[in-house]
Amino acid sequence: MLKSEYLQRVYDQVVTRDPDQKEFHQSVLEVLESLDMIVDKHPEYEENAIIERFVEPERVISFRVPWVDDAGKVRLNRGYRVQFNSAIGPYKGGLRFHPTVNLSVMKFLGFEQIFKNSLTGLPIGGAKGGSDFDPKGKSDAEVMRFCQSFMTELYRHIGQFVDVPAGDIGVGGREIGYLFGQYRRICNSYDAGVLTGKGLTFGGSLTRTEATGYGVCYLGQEMLRCMKNDSYEGKTVIVSGSGNVAIFACQKATELGGKVVAMSDSNGYIHDPNGINLDVLKDIKLNRRGRIKEYVDQVPGSTYTEGFRGIWTIPCDIAMPCATQNEITGEIAQVIVKNGAMAVVEGANMPCLPEAVKTFQSAGLLFAPSKAANAGGVAVSALEMSQNSMRYSWTFEEVDAKLKEIMVNIFHNAYDASVECGVSGDLVVGANIAAFNKVVDAMLAQGLI
Ligand code: NDP
Repeated sequence: MLKSEYLQRVYDQVVTRDPDQKEFHQSVLEVLESLDMIVDKHPEYEENAIIERFVEPERVISFRVPWVDDAGKVRLNRGYRVQFNSAIGPYKGGLRFHPTVNLSVMKFLGFEQIFKNSLTGLPIGGAKGGSDFDPKGKSDAEVMRFCQSFMTELYRHIGQFVDVPAGDIGVGGREIGYLFGQYRRICNSYDAGVLTGKGLTFGGSLTRTEATGYGVCYLGQEMLRCMKNDSYEGKTVIVSGSGNVAIFACQKATELGGKVVAMSDSNGYIHDPNGINLDVLKDIKLNRRGRIKEYVDQVPGSTYTEGFRGIWTIPCDIAMPCATQNEITGEIAQVIVKNGAMAVVEGANMPCLPEAVKTFQSAGLLFAPSKAANAGGVAVSALEMSQNSMRYSWTFEEVDAKLKEIMVNIFHNAYDASVECGVSGDLVVGANIAAFNKVVDAMLAQGLI
């Protein structure tokens, strides 16, 4: 129950309007709980229906995506683009191709993206899109035909000054390449800035592939330094998932002196007490699109266990969930606390359920929410847009230095906002308020939109 009658009314309306959108309700409630601390001081929010507007996407696009498989059979998937808020810049957010994609997941991700993008300090609004198409097990030709069909509808809704999609689960460099090729073909125009995460030969940015995972660790490092006078050095780390975010979070955590002892995919997890061998992992996941269990065939002393949630029974100092939403339940959180962890840094979007977050915070663990911790990907996407506009490429080191600076700033903005709200160190509240204030200022200044 929220303290503010106004916020409770808005939340009830969100639930009543779309009773099945559980993930969306979850992300809205988390934000409203933070706003509950400041809303009384801002009667202009209710007068201008600011919160009502905030929780309602500016536009929701839903479309069918027919494509032909290798056997010549016509298949059909659903495509989405949720253009949530463009008060501070063109819509920006990834595309997810995964069987679990539905409107609730798209809306929760688009909503979170507003805050994340605001926190980067860069001029980008929030959006998300995707499809329930599963690229796993599909041939390159099938993925290409699907991407071409998807873009044949999406192209009319995007543009470098309108909406700039990027990758997410199931959408990496291969998919972005096919999507960009189709966009260019339809529009007969080389609008490099219409998509980010592009290949380096056609407008991509160095460090974009690594950015989210690296950024998670840069923020984690700053949080450890400022709040515990500590670092990754000598820490045992667990990184769930083994996709884009997880691999580069593992790499940076290792470079910062941590030892990553376990990783997972949706089938199970590997435990390597000697520290994950990144060359082996990258070869399996990036070169061969294999499964994580293949790791144990190549690395003596490592083990594989079926079931991806079991990874959290292994003791660690720093937990970095980097797979998908709602992976860590309250029960799992209690195990992580009991095993003596000191920090949780969210790499995936909303990987911890609300009761898990409360368990971590009340046990005194440092907790970095995804909105802040994984903003590095979209930040470097915005830097890719800048380079496209300038027709210029920065070096890996230049982009990496900008990324690090952005992540350090995000931590401090969230931390300072938590202090101002009287909940010093609560980065969930801090990130929500810092991000919200900027977007609301822009909404109020622009009138009724
Ligand atoms: P990838 O597709 O590269 O990897 C996803 C990983 O998570 C895989 O290991 C996958 O295992 C696992 N996974 C996916 N769904 C499930 C599930 N239902 N249960 C268990 N494991 C699952 O995606 P990314 O690494 O890009 O994204 C991971 C997370 O990070 C997502 O929450 C995404 O929204 C977030 N994120 C990504 C950004 C980016 O730049 N890529 C930016 C910001 C946030 P399997 O192979 O078995 O499916």
